[in-house]
Amino acid sequence: MARVSRPPVAAILAAGSELLLLGRADTNSPYIAGHLQRHGIAVAFTSVVTDEHDDLVAALRHALSRADLVVCTGGLGPTDDDRTRDVVAEVLGLTLHEDAAVVTAIRERFGRRGLTMPEINRRQAMVPAGGVVVPNTRGTAPGLWIRTGDQAVLLLPGPPREMMPMLEEALRAHVAPRFGGGVAVQRSVVLAGRSESWVDEKAQPIYGPWRDEPVPITTTILASLGSVELHLSAYGPDGGAIAARLDAAQAALVEVFGDDVVNTDGTSLEASVGGMLRTRGWTIAAAESCTGGLLTTRLTDVPGSSAYLDRSVVSYSNASKEALLGVPPALLQAHGAVSEPVAAAMADGLRARSGVTVTVAVTGIAGPDGGTPEKPVGLVCFAVSGPAGTEARTSRFTGDRAIIRALAATTALDLVRRYVRRSAA
Ligand code: ATP
Ligand code: MG
Repeated sequence: MARVSRPPVAAILAAGSELLLLGRADTNSPYIAGHLQRHGIAVAFTSVVTDEHDDLVAALRHALSRADLVVCTGGLGPTDDDRTRDVVAEVLGLTLHEDAAVVTAIRERFGRRGLTMPEINRRQAMVPAGGVVVPNTRGTAPGLWIRTGDQAVLLLPGPPREMMPMLEEALRAHVAPRFGGGVAVQRSVVLAGRSESWVDEKAQPIYGPWRDEPVPITTTILASLGSVELHLSAYGPDGGAIAARLDAAQAALVEVFGDDVVNTDGTSLEASVGGMLRTRGWTIAAAESCTGGLLTTRLTDVPGSSAYLDRSVVSYSNASKEALLGVPPALLQAHGAVSEPVAAAMADGLRARSGVTVTVAVTGIAGPDGGTPEKPVGLVCFAVSGPAGTEARTSRFTGDRAIIRALAATTALDLVRRYVRRSAA
């Protein structure tokens, strides 16, 4: 319990040959990981392992070599191929004895359904010396909590509906009292319009030294199509002090990344854009060519978006760009549909017709066909038109059609965000 500078470390072991051979998904591990992390316990790794004796022994030894707490699920059934209980006793060097109260509980469970307990179910009543039973209210296999030196092993059954309430109970009764000495606090900074490596290069010198401070801050960088997330977390006995340190660290990143920061509360880019439009009382309309409505889908994914989204025009043909957006034919002739002048004319035309505060236009080549040497697949032109004038820019994306379209939608949202951000709230 004196260990406060680092969080207790857990490893999760999901036993079940079906998880490897039949393609059944291991949903227990991420569920357990989430719950442990909420209790301030760091999860170092998860292993999915067959029900074979040797595999289980190896996986358990590996988990015990690293973790303070090992949580196992599966393999507590009554049949011969349910070996977790035996393997844990073997690896920890504990003898097993039959627990009379567990036998009674299982017998009664069968009795309530008018059945006689099969003898093989007695296996489920075997408890390693020093082990504490975690009751199972939804099945026959009880869980087990076993302390071994500074470490502990928690055994839970495989069926998720049995495992979930038992995990809750075990956390309350055993895990938190033993390992719950500290608090884990998280912060995030979401960025857009920059690559992961660009962000990392700029952030490393700032957050590198944080690892060696009295309150060490762990950082993770996550990239998804067009946005980059920085996650900060720290652990210690004093939640208030940790939160204050993390707030300062987050503020330092916000300062350095400036305009690239979308938000610090983990919400989506589209929700952030929506919030900014709402605060300013602005309305928006979109003219979409190559994104085919994807940008508008993103905008309308946000509940309440009707407060600021007026309309969108999906316009592919030159004729529709002229008819619906008022793009001059001469402009299309001179520059082609995928060009900054046409993107700007789409945005300006839609703004004139709709009367909204700000418009955004996208026109590009999503592929796989339609590219030329001077206008290759992945070339996308954008424009934003609003009270501060019209701004156009061009991006060159790589990837397949779906990726190019997704990147184009994210970039368009980010350009709107930057435009609106520069206008005082
Ligand atoms: P118990 O420990 O209760 O005896 P078991 O492993 O012996 O469980 P199985 O018959 O192997 O029981 O599995 C019971 C059900 O639980 C199966 O549908 C199985 O796919 C599911 N299950 C087992 N492990 C997991 C897991 N890690 N994630 C999701 N489902 C699981
Ligand atoms: Mg199993």
